[in-house]
Amino acid sequence: MAIKAIVFHPAAVLSQAAEQVTVFDNKLKKLLSDMYETMVENDGVGLAAPQIGLSKKIAVVDIGEESGKIELVNPVIIEAKGEQTGPEGCLSFPGLYGEVTRPDYVKVQALNRHGKPFEIEASGFLSRAIQHEIDHLEGVLFTSKVNRYYEAHELEEMEG
Ligand SMILES: [Zn+2]
Repeated sequence: MAIKAIVFHPAAVLSQAAEQVTVFDNKLKKLLSDMYETMVENDGVGLAAPQIGLSKKIAVVDIGEESGKIELVNPVIIEAKGEQTGPEGCLSFPGLYGEVTRPDYVKVQALNRHGKPFEIEASGFLSRAIQHEIDHLEGVLFTSKVNRYYEAHELEEMEG
């Protein structure tokens, strides 16, 4: 496995809609593993392929709870309900945190690494992480949804 370099804003690849994945080969499996390693190495809870410079609809999410590692290929939100507001950051925007309002619950349809369809339901923070990564695959960055940015002292209190 290999750690990939994170692409930072304002790289053009971050603002483009990514391409659908059509080939489910060993290269894809290695890519998913590399993306997961890269996410963990950077203390992230999610990573989308455009963030390593690859314009493909591939994302990994792991918020460190019982949901475990989630691999999403060509994911689509098919249902969204409720509302949540909370802090959000992004590996492509180091040190930047903003308050973002999103649906609380989502149901997502995606393909796994073998090309097999599955559905996943999530609410709360897991739902937020999944929505953030799916946004990346459409070229949508969290900064376009921020209500307000947190100041340094607020971040310290949140970490505290
Ligand atoms: Zn992000």
